[in-house]
Amino acid sequence: MGVTEVTAAPPLPAHPDPWLDAVLSGPLPHELSYAIGGPFHLLLPDRFDTNAAAFRAVLDEFGVEGRVYYAKKANKAAAWIERCALSGTGVDVAGSGELRDALGCGVPGENIVVTGPAKADALLRVAVLQGCLIAVDALDELERVIGIGRPARVLLRRRPPAQPNSRFGLDDGELERALVRCREAGVVMEGFSFHLSGYDPLMRAELAGELVDLCLKAQASGLRADRISIGGGFAVDYTDAPHWERYLRDQRPEHYHAGKSFAPGDFYPYHSPVAGPDALRAVLAAHGLAGRLREAGVKLLLEPGRALLDRAGCTVFRVQGVKDLDGYGIVTVDGSSLSLSEQWFDSEYLPDPVLLSRTGPGEPYAACVGGATCLESDMVTWRKVRFPARPAVGDLLVYPNTAGYQMDSNESPFHELPLPPKVVLDTADGSTRWRFDRPPLA
Ligand SMILES: *Cc1c(COP(=O)(O)O)cnc(C)c1O
Repeated sequence: MGVTEVTAAPPLPAHPDPWLDAVLSGPLPHELSYAIGGPFHLLLPDRFDTNAAAFRAVLDEFGVEGRVYYAKKANKAAAWIERCALSGTGVDVAGSGELRDALGCGVPGENIVVTGPAKADALLRVAVLQGCLIAVDALDELERVIGIGRPARVLLRRRPPAQPNSRFGLDDGELERALVRCREAGVVMEGFSFHLSGYDPLMRAELAGELVDLCLKAQASGLRADRISIGGGFAVDYTDAPHWERYLRDQRPEHYHAGKSFAPGDFYPYHSPVAGPDALRAVLAAHGLAGRLREAGVKLLLEPGRALLDRAGCTVFRVQGVKDLDGYGIVTVDGSSLSLSEQWFDSEYLPDPVLLSRTGPGEPYAACVGGATCLESDMVTWRKVRFPARPAVGDLLVYPNTAGYQMDSNESPFHELPLPPKVVLDTADGSTRWRFDRPPLA
């Protein structure tokens, strides 16, 4: 059965990754698949370090003081926070479990920022006692921090005026009252923060400039206010512009199993011309932000999640069965779509899976990928991917660049399928060795 252009969706290859390709073309993936007996994730902590260093280099380039905090919710592995502990990178946590994990892996409290709305009393208390920075989201939360009766380091989170329906942050009236309470209660008010949805650097720069002004005003009233946090939201560029534009233009229901359809706006923007550290550069260059930070002596804190994990991991399934349908096939793998979390957003992970075939090249073959469960909706890939050969039982399918939010956000042991373990690739002395991250968190 051949593949016509009509049956297969337009190709969307991830950016080439020669180092990882070399690892994947060796015996390791098949040996791990055999040993584990199910899907697994590969983690590349060196990439995480490189990404964090690239963000810091942009701060240096602009002569701006600051700190990078890894937004921990983007991936649950220990490998990242172990690297944070070694490099002095900060960690952004939203709850007690994440805080415990960061402290337990050796990240000192002073390098931890606690975000998340309406934080529990126990979380606030531990955060204060450990010297963490607390992003206060509401007036009642500030009162609970003050009630702990110990010196507390806080940021006041401002609701972005452009997103008045956001449920996060304090409006201008609430900010005024919060500042009064900080002065009265002797809170160590270190500055302001915001968390903005979307990827617009100009909006971030504008809002950040306003926070610098708020810092200067707060300093004049006797508060410390010497830093601002612009949160996360640095895009990741998964594929190149021509493939992305073609995909958005040409995709249509015939390209998907069961006539499933997606509007172009349902997809994550898998191509971003300005992504990661370049997006930070764009923020600092806009509205003279870097100059304003330097003149005011205000530090810039950022909390990237996805962007620190760019190209730092992939997900490997084993082919368990192949079924021919009318003009395309269904490949069933040994895991479920809960290991690719775009279905949270009624969407699909679009960077193409790569077939590690043991039989060599053959005729191109279009296939969707289903999970090993009894739900029609458990499709790992709804679209008909053009594979270079008909996948065979025992072949592996590698989903590229899944560390940021994809691999473990939604995982559950549904159907008693074990959670895919995480395998860390450590490189030292020019060799590549593997180890397990740790048993996944329940
Ligand atoms: C989710 C989140 C982030 C990280 O967002 P990314 O888009 O992954 O960079 C940073 N800060 C806070 C408060 C968050 O909730």
